Amino acid sequence: HIPVDNTYVIPDNYGSENANILIGDALKARVEAVDQDTCAAGEEDAFFVADLGEVYRQHLRWKKNLGRVKPHYAVKCNPDPNVLRLLAELGTGFDCASKSEIEQVLKMGIEPSRIIYAQPCKTKSYVRYAAQHGVKQMTFDNADELYKTKQLFPDAELFLRILTDDSASLCRLSQKFGASLDSTADLLELAKKLELNVVGVAFHVGSGASDPKAFLKAVQDARFVFDQASAIGFHMHTIDVGGGFCGENFEAMAAVLSGALDVYFPPHIRVIGEPGRYYVSTAFTIACHVIARRTVADATLGTTSYMLYLNDGVYGNFSSIIFDHQNPVPQVLKCGNRFLRDTKRSGYDSPTMIEYSIWGPTCDGIDVISQSCVFSETVDVGDWLYFENMGAYTKCSATRFNGFTDSHDVIYVSSEPGATALMGL
Ligand code: PLP
Repeated sequence: HIPVDNTYVIPDNYGSENANILIGDALKARVEAVDQDTCAAGEEDAFFVADLGEVYRQHLRWKKNLGRVKPHYAVKCNPDPNVLRLLAELGTGFDCASKSEIEQVLKMGIEPSRIIYAQPCKTKSYVRYAAQHGVKQMTFDNADELYKTKQLFPDAELFLRILTDDSASLCRLSQKFGASLDSTADLLELAKKLELNVVGVAFHVGSGASDPKAFLKAVQDARFVFDQASAIGFHMHTIDVGGGFCGENFEAMAAVLSGALDVYFPPHIRVIGEPGRYYVSTAFTIACHVIARRTVADATLGTTSYMLYLNDGVYGNFSSIIFDHQNPVPQVLKCGNRFLRDTKRSGYDSPTMIEYSIWGPTCDGIDVISQSCVFSETVDVGDWLYFENMGAYTKCSATRFNGFTDSHDVIYVSSEPGATALMGL
């Protein structure tokens, strides 16, 4: 693994100028290569530009602020092969939720010990698959899962997932998973009786968490369960602090979490995490083609607005609007013959603002990306829009509804020399 140490100076501005230029050039080159009047069906499909340098910077930022926590990237968030390859090179582990995620990671040559099957309610055949391939670390939160584990994988290294207060998170998980603290003693007793190997505690404060105190409470609760386990005769050695980290408030979260870990868990206790969104959200930009436009004239008000129909929507990569409560921000990439991304960044402004609503390509009325936004340009069929921060929970949950593709091209760039070298870009 390449040495990534805490002396690395992280650029203040994460979306560095270098990154902006690289991403802009990649967007422009691809759009210019498409002639909408002659291209084959689908050549003008939406596409991503992924800056692997951003993933690399996020990793350095993690090492700097949460050095004690070994990240196990949550593959579900974005199983992009190059993101996984870069993270593998950087030495992270992987959190997998299913047989195919485990298989994808193992096929990259990753040791099974770097994988945690972090799904408390698992498919039996997947548990058999994990057992056959030596993926020992897995989570549980109920008695039935313990009986299943006893039958299928008695050597598994089990993490007891506990309930958290996820009320301040974007996607709440604790209504579905996590043992309450009044049930953990019974679960540990049962595990002991079944001669299973419980090695640690896991939690998840909810995806897109915003309250650092949730981490403090979860660490305190984990300590409580460690003590319970030790009284019952287990020697727990690992705490899994889950995911929930975002780019925006990461330093504040990390400060509370690492402070709590230092207070409640001595240094010999291993700490792992399962960040997903944190690594990839800002690394992916998507460009979409305007395939149709409807002019909406309001005779009473004397105004004109437009409905724009794009070739991607909530059944595709904008699935994050439905499943991940996101509000992607549309911006104009190309209008007529002009590329506007650069002009916008240097302060492009206009007194006339035109209102738009932005829709996806399917026949369904819920397929709307933005009910209302304004641009200073008159956007028409054939123009391109782009959306930043489209790396998390987007393409992984895209469907083929209405026959549209669920597989969009990704153009990779790297704004960090470290990532460029590792990936041979
Ligand atoms: N770990 C588990 C068990 C999860 O369910 C999830 C997301 O749902 C993650 C990790 C990743 O969470 P995030 O993307 O918020 O870091």
